[in-house]
Amino acid sequence: MFFKLKILLFLIGIKLERFIGLHSALWYKKLKIFIYLKRINHSKFYASFDVISSKFLDLPIMNKSLFMKNFDSINTCGISYKQAFELAEKAEQLRDFSPMIGEVAVGLSTGTSGNRGMFLVSDTERAKWVAYMIDRVVGFSLKKKTIAFFLRANNQLYESSKSKRLSFNFFDIYINIDSHIDRLNALSPDILIAQPSVLMILAKKKKAKELRIQPTKIVSVAEVLTQEDRKFIESIFEIKLSEVYQCTEGFLASSCSYGTMHFNEDFLIVEKRYLDEEKTKFHPIITDLIRKTQPVVRYELNDIITEKSDCKCGSKFLGIENVEGRSDDIIILADINQNKVRIFPDIIRRAIVLSCQSIEDYTLIQKNNKSLNLYIKSELEQSYLVAVSALEKVFINYNIVDFEINKLENYRFKIGNKKRRVINES
Ligand SMILES: [Zn+2]
Repeated sequence: MFFKLKILLFLIGIKLERFIGLHSALWYKKLKIFIYLKRINHSKFYASFDVISSKFLDLPIMNKSLFMKNFDSINTCGISYKQAFELAEKAEQLRDFSPMIGEVAVGLSTGTSGNRGMFLVSDTERAKWVAYMIDRVVGFSLKKKTIAFFLRANNQLYESSKSKRLSFNFFDIYINIDSHIDRLNALSPDILIAQPSVLMILAKKKKAKELRIQPTKIVSVAEVLTQEDRKFIESIFEIKLSEVYQCTEGFLASSCSYGTMHFNEDFLIVEKRYLDEEKTKFHPIITDLIRKTQPVVRYELNDIITEKSDCKCGSKFLGIENVEGRSDDIIILADINQNKVRIFPDIIRRAIVLSCQSIEDYTLIQKNNKSLNLYIKSELEQSYLVAVSALEKVFINYNIVDFEINKLENYRFKIGNKKRRVINES
């Protein structure tokens, strides 16, 4: 009961902040930051930087490997990496178990690069997370809502959202999706939350009339949602998709009523590391003012964000035009002057998808500094050649001539891995 009361109090707090306009007031955020820095001074790692008197911008920029390397000294609850890892790994094998050390939940995440991250979340932080999720994603209502949630592992973080008004039902994506269909039909959820690759499979099942659910809200999480997948899912379910940008590092952004994702700048500090001279694309550097058990301070993500400046909803929070794969999804080739050219994945995706209407699926894998493997799924034989010539055109525009594209007859991605269509293995 105490936990639910916490959620309710946080939810009232969030609504109140917005009602009186505090959520976007600069002085209020500065106060929050001041309190936060005071709190994380309990972390050995941050105490060594004297966080209170030093400037925020003097604090080191984090990345996953630095974060894991300093796991023991960063967290404020005295949990060692070894202790947390052993517990999380055991829980992962058992699948139905939510590991806790005291009141701290331990979770493992699988990164696209294969390295694992580990996160610690306290009871209070979980309650806040749920409150923000209800506020931004689920929507508060007095009517009972049934939620179907597809995810990798049944973490305590998600488990905590059960209540009388909200019934969360978990579907493990490691189990063949076919075996979930009957349960989904019986449940008939109001809200469906899953990553795009799962939503695509469900949309196909719905098209084949095996799946009969008609949710009033569908939320895409965890992976990059491409425009072509979005269109397909929306046309089958006859509903506008909502998006949540969420990762191990926190609940980062969610869509407004106009479909634009906005960063949760009421509890996040978002800095930008620009990747191009025109300053249109950046890596976000995140500070999460909720996370005190394992402070997430100036943590640079590999995702590539394209900014959207004037959303019609009028939100002051930073808008997102597009989230692209990971940094390792950039194709890098040399031009005629031997300069390295970085080609963003959305350019590759666009070239392939727009080349031929019959293309159902595709994957481009860079194998070394000049060789690429291309997989095209299509009814038409010639789709492959059309896609190749579209890519050639893109490369030649960059003055790249020294490359080869090889045909890949088959490519299967594993559900449970993050789906990527542009992969750089070089
Ligand atoms: Zn908006």
